[in-house]
Amino acid sequence: MKQDNPPDGGREPTPGTGDMPAEEFRRYGHMLVERVARYLEEVERAPVLSRAQPGDIRASLPRAAPASGEDMAKILADFDEKILPGITHWNHPGFMAYFAITGSGPGILGELLAAGLNANGMLWRSSPAVTELEEVTLDWLRQLLGLPEPLFGEITDTASSSTLYALAAAREFADMDIHRRGVGGQRLRVYCSAEAHSSVDKAVITLGLGSDGLRHIPVDERFRMRTDLLEAAIAEDKAAGIRPLAVVATVGTTGTTSIDPVTEIADICEREGMWLHVDASYAGVAAIVPEKRYVLAGVERAHSLVVNPHKWLFVPIDCSVLYTREPAALKAAFALPLEILYAPEPGVTNLMDYGMSLGRRFRSLKLWFVLRYFGAAGIIARLREHMRLAQIVARWADESDAFEVCAPVELSTVVFRYNPPGLAPPEVDTANAELLRLVNESGDVFLSGTKVNGSQVLRLAIGNLRTTERHVLRAMELLEQTAKRL
Ligand SMILES: *Cc1c(COP(=O)(O)O)cnc(C)c1O
Repeated sequence: MKQDNPPDGGREPTPGTGDMPAEEFRRYGHMLVERVARYLEEVERAPVLSRAQPGDIRASLPRAAPASGEDMAKILADFDEKILPGITHWNHPGFMAYFAITGSGPGILGELLAAGLNANGMLWRSSPAVTELEEVTLDWLRQLLGLPEPLFGEITDTASSSTLYALAAAREFADMDIHRRGVGGQRLRVYCSAEAHSSVDKAVITLGLGSDGLRHIPVDERFRMRTDLLEAAIAEDKAAGIRPLAVVATVGTTGTTSIDPVTEIADICEREGMWLHVDASYAGVAAIVPEKRYVLAGVERAHSLVVNPHKWLFVPIDCSVLYTREPAALKAAFALPLEILYAPEPGVTNLMDYGMSLGRRFRSLKLWFVLRYFGAAGIIARLREHMRLAQIVARWADESDAFEVCAPVELSTVVFRYNPPGLAPPEVDTANAELLRLVNESGDVFLSGTKVNGSQVLRLAIGNLRTTERHVLRAMELLEQTAKRL
């Protein structure tokens, strides 16, 4: 991202009280757009995983803010020298860790405009377009996902917040007047699978239900929630005087991208009068692809759903979407009669009523740019390509004597491990941990690891617009070569 500063770059720091002069903003603005464009073109040359050691970046920076203003050229030079080496490059084509997601050109440009406007959409009147574009883009996304109307949607920062809000709504839905009385001595229970994301634990703890308020239901051989055990757990809790409140089903678990049987879980929730929240943070967008629409089967019966466009829809972080069929419950959880803020327009949505935060960034702008720029066809082509690349890796591991696939590959994530003939299980775990460390040291790829059935495995996730077959072949070559050296 390095670039020479413009020849006229130096200046005396602005004295007085105004903003950066427009002329200076313009000059650095042009320069930074050029830098970002070049960064995206050349990101592959940097090591994908930052080589910084803990404390390196902090130690390179002053201990206090400057007493007087500094030159922009100097700030940018420090960015190049001190900050960039501490960046792990999520835009690098070899980034295949976690859920490997990029931003995108249109997403970055939308983010730039949102920063320029600095509009806060806490109320409809505090920026009508922030509220209404959020409504429009989320309705577009609803249609792309194949979900029926009516469905209320809002954008939050992360799936963790979305799930927290959904479970807060679930408490109101239970008609226990919790908004006013608190949880009190009532024993409530939320259920999710043993493979569910830790954000469910955090939400339940934050809502005051305690970690005992969450029950992890065991999974089957394909890592899906066992509904027979869910039913048994609910019956057992009811007999013990605990009120079953909600089930969180996962569509695309973080470890293995398994898909819980949402339809069966919906049957149980309807019978028991429980809220059903579906966590499809990563996998939900796969439903945009016609042959993958099935991943959201049954979700039309859920009370709420989270999908993260910042996970696999090319929207820069942060952009999580919370949908609910019960906006009244969400509002019951969060709305307060605040005279100072309430505005006279009838029939508008004031988004501050539907979550914890008052202020709201203009996040729908970048989502709008991405949906329009790529279009449904462009998005489908890209998601399909990522799934095709994942199949190449899965086939390679399947056919190899030394590697094996450890979970079904339905989407763009492959869970596999090195398991050559003759190694005992504890040695296999150690070998995989070592393999992961060495491969990530290469700087060419970044993979993550996880545990499946207690064993150390490797995860390769495709979700980056710059990842091509060449990068996937390189990852496989590195894995093979490194394994031979173990
Ligand atoms: C990543 C992930 C989350 C958390 O997402 P954030 O937006 O980072 O909070 C929750 N659930 C699943 C299944 C995930 O994969």
